[in-house]
Amino acid sequence: MIEVDCYNCKSSNHEFYDSENGHTIVKCIQCGLLFLNPRPGDEEISRVSKSRVYKADELPKVTGTFKEDLKEIYLSRLNDFNYAIMFNQKKRFTWLDINCGHGEFVETVSTLGDKQIDIIGLEPNVRKLEQARERGMDVRFFDLSTHQEKYDVISALNVYSHLPNPPKDIARWCEMLNEGGELLLQTGDTAELAAEHHHKPYSLPDHLSFTSKKLLIELLEKLGMKVIQVEKYRLSQYPIFSYLELLKEIARFFLPGHVATFKFSPEHPDTDMWIRAKKISNNTSSIE
Ligand SMILES: [Zn+2]
Repeated sequence: MIEVDCYNCKSSNHEFYDSENGHTIVKCIQCGLLFLNPRPGDEEISRVSKSRVYKADELPKVTGTFKEDLKEIYLSRLNDFNYAIMFNQKKRFTWLDINCGHGEFVETVSTLGDKQIDIIGLEPNVRKLEQARERGMDVRFFDLSTHQEKYDVISALNVYSHLPNPPKDIARWCEMLNEGGELLLQTGDTAELAAEHHHKPYSLPDHLSFTSKKLLIELLEKLGMKVIQVEKYRLSQYPIFSYLELLKEIARFFLPGHVATFKFSPEHPDTDMWIRAKKISNNTSSIE
C-alpha cells in the first residue's frame, strides 16, 4: 500500500472521509475529490489486473453472467443522448467500449446501430470475454497504451472509479479519438456528498476514487473536450417503492448473490452520471 496525493489537483492536503474493510477514503481539501489512501501500489494494481486476464477458471458466481435487463436501461440511455441521430447517418462509425464486461452495452449499441456502427469491446477478464464472443460480439483484449487504432466513439461505463489515475487514462482515450470523436462516460457524481449519504458499499479497494460532475467536466475540458450532455439517473440499487418492488427486495434479501437495500427513499438516489463529450482539439499535452 502506498500513500498518494490527489491525482486531480496534486495537493497532499486531505482529510478523513470514511472507512470500509480496513481501507480509508480521504477527501482532498483543495478540490474535493474522494480517493482511497493509502491505496495498492501501481505494481499491485497491474498484478491484479493481469491475474484477471489469466484467471479463466474463476467461478461464474464471481464473474457473473450476461444481464439481459441491463440492455433495456442502456437502450433508454442511448435514446436520451440522441444517438439515434448518429445511427441514422450514412457514414459508418467505429466504437470502442472499454472494459465491456459480458458485453451488454456492446450488444445494445450493435442492435440499435445495426449497419452504421462497428463496435468492439475491450475486456481483460477471459471468462467474460469468451461469454461475449459466444453471443457473437467482437470482444478482444489489448494494451491500450500501445494500441494504434482510432475510433469515432469511446465509451467507458463504470470504469472511472477503478482507474488509478483517471486524468492519464482519459487523456489516452482522447488521443485515441478521431477528429470530432466522442467519449461517453458513466460514473457516480458523489464526491460532494456527505459520508452518511454516500451509497454503500464503497467496494474498497476495487474502487480507488469517486469524482463529481464539476470535477469530471473540468477534467474533460482541460483535455480539449466539449461536454455536450450530462444526465443523472437513479442508482439501480434504490428501487422506487411499490408493493411489487417490496416483494422483489424481500426476494433479493433471501437469495444468495443478491443485495437488498430496502432504501426506497435515500437522500441522494440520482447520482448515476452519464456524460457525452466531443473532441474539439488535439491539445492533451497539459496532462501528465
Ligand atoms: Zn485535489
